[in-house]
Amino acid sequence: MAETSSAHADIGVIGGSGFYAFLDDVTEITMETPYGDPSDSLFLGDIAGRRVAFLPRHGRKHHLPPHRINYRANLWALRAAGVRQVFGPCAVGGLRPEYGPGTLLVPDQLVDRTKARTQTFFDGEPLPDGQVPNVVHTTFADPYCPVGRRAAVAAARGRGWEPVDGGTMCVVEGPRFSTRAESRWHAAQGWSVVGMTGHPEAVLARELELCYTSLTLVTDLDAGVETGEGVSHAEVLKVFGENVGRLREVLFDAVSGLPDNADRDCLCAHGHEGWELGIELP
Ligand SMILES: [Zn+2]
Repeated sequence: MAETSSAHADIGVIGGSGFYAFLDDVTEITMETPYGDPSDSLFLGDIAGRRVAFLPRHGRKHHLPPHRINYRANLWALRAAGVRQVFGPCAVGGLRPEYGPGTLLVPDQLVDRTKARTQTFFDGEPLPDGQVPNVVHTTFADPYCPVGRRAAVAAARGRGWEPVDGGTMCVVEGPRFSTRAESRWHAAQGWSVVGMTGHPEAVLARELELCYTSLTLVTDLDAGVETGEGVSHAEVLKVFGENVGRLREVLFDAVSGLPDNADRDCLCAHGHEGWELGIELP
């Protein structure tokens, strides 16, 4: 059925409205999930022969703050559309003086400092047949897809934007920015950047056996690192706007650098080996 194939995508990008707006011939599809509504419709288009679904993380009008995003619905909707590999670009603050505005960092670790977000599909709820307990402890030692990370780093280098290959993203609850004391503490731990949306996106992707790769764009030096008045929202938006074009180019190239979904052999694709799942993945 033509309708079914046009509603299918292989690769997902969870980002701002700056991304889907530049695709030709976008198909908008509305998804419903058992976990509620995603942030917005999925916008499907083609990049280098790959079918890609874009999802504006904060909604197309940017009406959802980080703590109100339905991360479970977002990841579930992407998987239900056929997506198996996801890029999650996001704006972050730099925790080292050398990671100034405009730095692109592809993290290989994260630290979760969120406080009030649902971060699992495996809630142990009673099941219709009462057979399989919905309890799973997902392996998360390496939170990001190694294949996706390589594709992202190679794509950035190909565009002449040397990225920081690896580092730790600290994810805070927000929506406020950090105090100087918090920021200094984060930096003292050796963490690289701080953001508000990278988690639980990463672990929910892993729970759905999706490959997930974060690309972080530094928009400011965090409060404990810089010497001025502290981070402002206007500053974040300004730097993001200046870099969204080349970030989009890097993402397009990274998409074309991914393997076919059927050829995935990374840990992400086998995250639940040995577990009997209490939910059926879409
Ligand atoms: Zn993977």
